[in-house]
Formats: sequence, C-alpha cells, structure tokens
Amino acid sequence: MLYLDNSATTSVLPEVRDKMMSYLSDEFGNPSGKYYKLANHAKDAIEEARKNVSLLLKAKEKEIIFTSGATESNNMVVKGVADYYSNQGNHIITSKVEHPAVLDVCEYLENKGFNITYLDVDQYGRVSSDELESAITNNTILVSIIWGNNELGSLNDIKSLSDICKNKNILFHTDATQVVGKIDVDLKSHSGISFLSCSAHKMHGPKGVGALFIRSDNYGKLTPLTPLFHGGGQEEGIRSGTYSVHNIVGFGEAAIIADSNLTSNLRNLEKLESKTTQILIDKFSNKITFNSDSKNKIPGIINVRFNGVNNQILLKKLAPIIAASSGSACSSTKPSHVLQAIGLELKEVREAIRFSFSPYTSIEEVEVFKDL
Ligand code: PMP
Repeated sequence: MLYLDNSATTSVLPEVRDKMMSYLSDEFGNPSGKYYKLANHAKDAIEEARKNVSLLLKAKEKEIIFTSGATESNNMVVKGVADYYSNQGNHIITSKVEHPAVLDVCEYLENKGFNITYLDVDQYGRVSSDELESAITNNTILVSIIWGNNELGSLNDIKSLSDICKNKNILFHTDATQVVGKIDVDLKSHSGISFLSCSAHKMHGPKGVGALFIRSDNYGKLTPLTPLFHGGGQEEGIRSGTYSVHNIVGFGEAAIIADSNLTSNLRNLEKLESKTTQILIDKFSNKITFNSDSKNKIPGIINVRFNGVNNQILLKKLAPIIAASSGSACSSTKPSHVLQAIGLELKEVREAIRFSFSPYTSIEEVEVFKDL
C-alpha cells in the first residue's frame, strides 16, 4: 500500500525514533528538576531541541515555545491575543480557508463579542494583499493567515501580508504547519510575522508536539499574550506543564533532518508531484479536474476531482492500494470548507481527493497510478 496522506501525518523517521527512545527509558528526568544528572540531561535535551527548531525557522532560541502541536499553538495565539489586547480593540482578521484550529477559535470569540472578518480567497485559496489592507480598522488587534494550505498546497504571499501588518503595527500570526520543514521558512527576513505555529508530525517527527514562535523585541522581550495554560511556569510562564521530553527531543531531531535535507526533499517532492500529475493526465485526461495550482505551492500536494465519482466511494476502493484522503483529517466528516471557499459546488467538493507525498516516497512507487 502506498501512503499518500502525508499532509495528515507522516511516519516517524528511524533516526528520530532512536533519539527519542532513551528518553522513554533511562533518561526519564524532569527538566524542571535541579542539581541531579537526570534532570540536567533532560534540560540539555530540551535546549538542544529548541536550538534545532530555531535553526529550522531562523529564529532565536528563546522565541521557540514548545506546545502539544499546531492546534494548541493556534489556540494560544488567537485566544491569548484576544484576551491580552481586548482593551485595544476587538477586531480579528482571518481567511475562509484556515484550519479549524483557527476558524473554530474565531467563531468561539465571535460568540463572546469579538468582531471577525473572514477574508475571501481566489480560485486557489490565496488571500489578496489589497483585501487584507482594506479590511484593517483601528480596532484590529490580530491578523491570522495560513502560510500553505493543507488541502490545496497553495502558498500565500506571507511576506507581503505580514509586512502590511507590520507597517500598521498589527500583530500577525501564520499557521505554517504544512510548510515548516518543506520550504524555506526564514523568520529573520519575515520581520512582520509576530507568531508562527508548526507541528512535528508533519515533518516525520512524533505526534503531540509542536511549537509556537513568538517574536522578541530588541530587548529580548517576547510579544506578550495571555497564556492558555497556567501552572508550573514552564516555557517562561507562557506554556505551563511538564515537558514531554521524548516528543520534544524527537521534534528537534526531525527539525534538524528536515533542515539539512530541505533542498533535496523539495526536489523529490516536485518530481513525485509532476510524475503523478502526468500519469493522471495520460490516464484520465478529461475525466479529472485539478483543484490545486501548479505553481506557488507546497510541492507534493495534488488535489484532484474525479468528475462524477463520489470521493468517499473512490477512497474506500483505493484504500488497499493507495492511502489518501478527501482533505483535512481534522474535518473529514464535513464537506471541505476550503473547496467551498474557492467556489466549488457541493457536488464537486464531494469528488475531490488529496494525494500528499513524503520526500521519502520513491519515484517508482507512483507507477501504481498507471494500474488504477
Ligand atoms: N494547521 C494545519 C494547517 C494543519 O494541517 C494541521 C494538522 N491537520 C493543524 C493545524 C493541527 O496540527 P496538530 O495536529 O499538530 O494539532
């Protein structure tokens, strides 16, 4: 069976698993402990992982806050900014194609009296800079826009969107869960990004761990926000809770591997995508329609409609040969809000399938598409 649901999750690399194992056995210390070796080893391991994640993002080490994943990071920013800055305004701008971990939080805040603007997107799910600029008001406290779309792979022009916010002194968050570890994410040259969410299990790391990047000012002070969890004061008091040491260690290892292979991984994903696209065109020609763009995208995500064929029936039939999905694993029971936002009819939404590759998928394996 060929696994092509890597946007949902990826396998844990053997090197990552090996590195994690000792923290699940002998090295079981609590990094918040003091003086004894077990605690110091665990603390050193956390700091090494923080360094590796910061290198991947070109951020400062202290700007990396470990969380349980991108759902938590997104919640922390949207709720935390809404709470902390509520005396400065009650307007938040986001887009119609965000992950539910942003959209549902915005709906929750809307019910609490916040004013939310959900920006429209173009046919590939991208937000327009002009539309963002004209949506900003004196009451806007946060803009949250996804960097790379999890269903379509389309990349937003995050530089331009975040610069607009920087010029207007507005906090900008991006959900970069699908792009970190796949394309070059350089937070030094994206100074308009105040917050960024990412997750280890999308880059061949373990599930249940991620990070929130919080930009620091010239004095090293992190952009303030209200913490989601209160408690033991870990992570500078921003994210209390005993460290999941083995997961954080695994995340650090996955980050360093992704960082050192970024260029070759990108090339592999491009090859896999273009070969599969060509096989699909040769085989199905006018019976398929591509929803995803061919440029300006995360390589390795193909979203395609098999015209007139129900996606659930097709996925079920494909399952013994190819594992794929109809879109986000986090909202698999509802018709995709992303595909509706790009203008598809419900019937068309129900024909869409997403194939998402790993850089470790071999090019020979995609020959299986010829036998469908
Ligand atoms: N945002 C995006 C764009 C995602 O693809 C996902 C994972 N489906 C998440 C957030 C949630 O990440 P996690 O599983 O780490 O909570």
